[in-house]
Amino acid sequence: MQLASQNGYADQRMSPAIHAALINSLFQDPGPMFAGALCAAIAAIMTAVKSGDLYLWPCAALLIIVGALRSLDMRHYRRLRDANQLSQPATARWEMRYQIGAMAYALVLGVWSLAAVLDSRDPVVHLIAITVTLCYMSAGAGRTYGRPWIFHVQILLACGPLTVALMLDGSPYYLGMAVFCVLFFLSLKHISTNLQKMFVQAFVAREGETALANQFDTALNNMPHGLCMFGADGRLAVMNYRFCQMAALPDDIIHSGASASDIVGACVSAGSISAVNGTIILAQIEHTKAHNIVTTDSDGRRNRSLSWTFQPMDGGGAVVLLEDVTERRQAEARITHLARYDELTALPNRVSFRDEIERLLTIRQQDGQLSALLFVDLDQFKQVNDTLGHPCGDQLLCAVSQRLRDMLRPEDFVARFGGDEFVVFQRNIRSNDDAATLARRIVDHLSERYKIDNHLVEIGASIGIAMTTPGISADTLLKNADMALYRAKADGRGTFCFFRDELAQTVEARRTLELDLRKALANEEFELFYQPLVSLKSGKISTCEALLRWNHPVRGTVSPVDIIPVAEDMGLIVDLGRWILRKACLECVKWPETVSVAVNFSPQQFHQRDVLSEVRYALEISGLPPHRLEIEITESSLLRNTQLTHDVLSQLHAIGVRISLDDFGTGYSSLSYLHNFPLQKVKIDRSFLEGIDSDRPLTLLRGVARLSADLGMSVVVEGIETNEQLELISVDGTVSEAQGYLFSRPVPAIRIRQLLNASHGRQSDSDPFLAVGGRSLG
Ligand code: C2E
Ligand code: MG
Ligand code: MG
Repeated sequence: MQLASQNGYADQRMSPAIHAALINSLFQDPGPMFAGALCAAIAAIMTAVKSGDLYLWPCAALLIIVGALRSLDMRHYRRLRDANQLSQPATARWEMRYQIGAMAYALVLGVWSLAAVLDSRDPVVHLIAITVTLCYMSAGAGRTYGRPWIFHVQILLACGPLTVALMLDGSPYYLGMAVFCVLFFLSLKHISTNLQKMFVQAFVAREGETALANQFDTALNNMPHGLCMFGADGRLAVMNYRFCQMAALPDDIIHSGASASDIVGACVSAGSISAVNGTIILAQIEHTKAHNIVTTDSDGRRNRSLSWTFQPMDGGGAVVLLEDVTERRQAEARITHLARYDELTALPNRVSFRDEIERLLTIRQQDGQLSALLFVDLDQFKQVNDTLGHPCGDQLLCAVSQRLRDMLRPEDFVARFGGDEFVVFQRNIRSNDDAATLARRIVDHLSERYKIDNHLVEIGASIGIAMTTPGISADTLLKNADMALYRAKADGRGTFCFFRDELAQTVEARRTLELDLRKALANEEFELFYQPLVSLKSGKISTCEALLRWNHPVRGTVSPVDIIPVAEDMGLIVDLGRWILRKACLECVKWPETVSVAVNFSPQQFHQRDVLSEVRYALEISGLPPHRLEIEITESSLLRNTQLTHDVLSQLHAIGVRISLDDFGTGYSSLSYLHNFPLQKVKIDRSFLEGIDSDRPLTLLRGVARLSADLGMSVVVEGIETNEQLELISVDGTVSEAQGYLFSRPVPAIRIRQLLNASHGRQSDSDPFLAVGGRSLG
């Protein structure tokens, strides 16, 4: 029972593979087993012949039969095993068969030795029986160690009867022999148990190693990196599948024992690396320090990059890790390119241009040699972008950059600074005249027509030029050219201007103005003046236009013409415009109900996303009815985002606010605007009044006024300064309102209230101008 439980305990920890190996060990070497059975049979025959004892003959016969059957059984088992036909349950059955055979044989052996010792007094017979039984059992310890409990039962069955027979003989020597037998059998039992333990331990260890090796194999072959390992002798020890794949190695090279140079040579032949890189890689494998290199395929079509990492091992040899870094390298190259080049035009960008200039400025120039930096800004580009759309704008920028490239010599270079700004660096010139010549050519060439998507487009260019001086930095040069450009634009665009020191003062002045403006808004230093618009029909003030004024302690009264463009450039106009709108609405509620307020909106302010809610809010907080608010926009507001503009105007119109088109006649004066947008009023600019006493401008003014009136819009003429002007415009009755110094200059809020009270208090239908206080209100 103890054997069985021991066996059970051992089996519990055993894997099926170890169990099968133990059973298999029972069936090893049928030859010696057959020889042993034959020897035992001969010995039994010898004892039968020598003693003449008839009982011994059946024993001899049984030994032959059982021995032969066991040998046949063993051969059968081995055939099945070699043919891989042994399942786990079949193996268990074969164990049972072995057990029956082994026990049967041991029993016959035991019975024979008992009979030989007890039936015969012949010492030779005793000697043969004892020797053969002991020898057989000794041999059994070596055969049956895999299943020691079978062997232990065999000992009981074979040696038990022999020991009993020796004891029954009774002589002291035989008793001693019996004792020796017991000791011998006990030690055999011990040996066989130990043998099994050692066998199982060895097998478990091997199994663990195999499992570990398999896990490593799986890990190695499933890792994204290629890996190979060279031993201290420089021969290949390990290589994973990914390495072969990446290096495009032929199968026959991957046998352990291939040298590092064999492998590297195969990589070169496969086109995975160049011969030069092959030599570097070989040197790195032998090197004692960790290192990394990146190679590109010598077969350029693949354009693949491989990263090789070499890690030397303690005691010699190296591990080589291979990674395909093509995508990463391409992404890096793209990022680097994007960081230094403009994506649209493929020209260098601001960063790379600046770096390059910085580098060039450090190179000593030959005596008398100069360089010039030309800051080019396109004129009217925004209009093209707004009217024809961004894709056309993009094509135009590409065409401009191509023209610039074509104009330059190889040593010059050009970059795009963003938007419609380009910068040219002209090298090795003799004088300012060379820079001026190039600038003129650029202005002329860029102003030639472009054909973009069946549109003929014309733009202009303004250029600021800064010449290099000894020790000047790239930033200063750029800043100077920028200032010169500012001047060129102020001079009327389509021209160029050289940087002069005085320009710096202008820019400084502008910077101070910007700072002051910010402060002014925060401190509410602004004020609104109001200028009346007089109805030509009733002679009364119908509307007052709010006009911005800034009373600066040092600057004095600053004109909105100077404030608004700067505020627009600074992006301050949105906040400023919000303040103006609210202030004007709050003022208007104090006026007679028939008088409206007109507020000027600059394009930037008009295109802010929440213009509608801004207007609603101003009306809400002031309590002003929407029909008393007029918003004055200029044509440039209509130029941008046409659909969006249309929608916003419609929404404003829908809530009851009136829209009036200011300064008509100064810009494009496109009649299509009058037709396409929901406008209620057109204000004809005072420039129309110049030379009004001659026929042509008057006809023009009347034509525009009639057309606007026909389209259902009321017409205002701005800038009326004289009675003659007033009479001329009022003749045919198409002009509904007039505005100008003749009636009143823009006046502070308190003054306009007085004027309104005065004008709305009196009534006179006969002379409208008397109704407003005798032509001049102010
Ligand atoms: P605008 O909207 O066309 O305003 C009329 C301008 O003409 C005013 O100049 C006004 O003083 C001037 N003016 C009126 N009648 C006469 C006249 O009979 N003769 C002459 N010579 N001038 C006359 P101001 O106030 O200097 O404003 C100039 C421009 O600044 C305005 O032109 C408008 O475009 C802009 N602006 C003024 N205030 C604001 C504002 O609050 N917001 C925005 N966005 N722009 C404003
Ligand atoms: Mg206006
Ligand atoms: Mg105007």
